[in-house]
Amino acid sequence: MTILPDENAEQMQEEYVCAGCWQRLSLEYTADKTARVTCVRCGDDRGFVHKSWAEKQREHDFADASEVKRLLKKLGVIDQQSKTEEEILADLGF
Ligand SMILES: [Zn+2]
Repeated sequence: MTILPDENAEQMQEEYVCAGCWQRLSLEYTADKTARVTCVRCGDDRGFVHKSWAEKQREHDFADASEVKRLLKKLGVIDQQSKTEEEILADLGF
């Protein structure tokens, strides 16, 4: 659990995200001008990472996903051509 003075907690919320899910941190203000910094999804124990680091990781993940998709298409594991929204819905029975 991280409890900081209000202004430090707000700065932390602006600069950091949850280390578990990389989502925005939540602040719970207390009566003594402090705030508890937490993640509503993961709780208090996951820690924090800087937003710029999380953004770089997302970019790497997107690039990795694109490469895997390209290779799966090349190997014939997934279709070469993308299906339209209507074709996907029809395959699902809608
Ligand atoms: Zn989280």
